[in-house]
Amino acid sequence: VVEPLKVFHCPGHGGLRNRGLEYAGFVERDWVVELACGYLQWRFNQLESDTSRLAAEQHRLARFRDEYLPYTYRARAAEEWGADVAVLHHVNGVFFPKDHPRAGQANAAESGLAVFVVKGDLHLDVHQRSYDLARQLLLAVWRPLQLWKGRTTPHRAKRFGHDGKPHWTRRARSHLRHYVNRGIPAVLVEWSFATNDADRRTLLDPSLRARFYRPLDALVDHALKYRSR
Ligand SMILES: [Zn+2]
Repeated sequence: VVEPLKVFHCPGHGGLRNRGLEYAGFVERDWVVELACGYLQWRFNQLESDTSRLAAEQHRLARFRDEYLPYTYRARAAEEWGADVAVLHHVNGVFFPKDHPRAGQANAAESGLAVFVVKGDLHLDVHQRSYDLARQLLLAVWRPLQLWKGRTTPHRAKRFGHDGKPHWTRRARSHLRHYVNRGIPAVLVEWSFATNDADRRTLLDPSLRARFYRPLDALVDHALKYRSR
């Protein structure tokens, strides 16, 4: 008997101490819970008529409501549960910096979905799996959801760049490392930019939810295939 695949969903942020992105009525910490809950419902509806497929996987959420939960606590819960993969859900936003004439205002130029994994030795299973899963998710993205800069490969997040300066991907890494350090393959999805009007419309349109769920299906299906090899 093969153990079911265990997929741990970690909706980013939560609570007063970690509010996440808020812009033009969009609240990241709430949206990511809604997305993960909606996905579980979608996945269950797909599988419910097929008992063997239904038994082959389990999903769990790190949180269901707006509460503060330290990321170390979430990763420990994932490890104790025996998670095979962690998916970290976020939404991006970009604002003009302090010294800019439009300081603090949204910079609508950036749009699209990006996926991050921890940069590490790809000979290690945890990194190779993270990368493969992230790649499958990216390849299943369709309009109107779009890829950030058209990029179909995951970003390999690191603390420092070649110049020795802190790298822009370090924040994604600081979230992912809690899972990866425990040997759990982990993928962080920035589902698009709430600071871009077209992206925000897509994020908030309930009739477009399948555009978000199908890439998750691709990740889960790939993890199931990996497992049965
Ligand atoms: Zn976030």
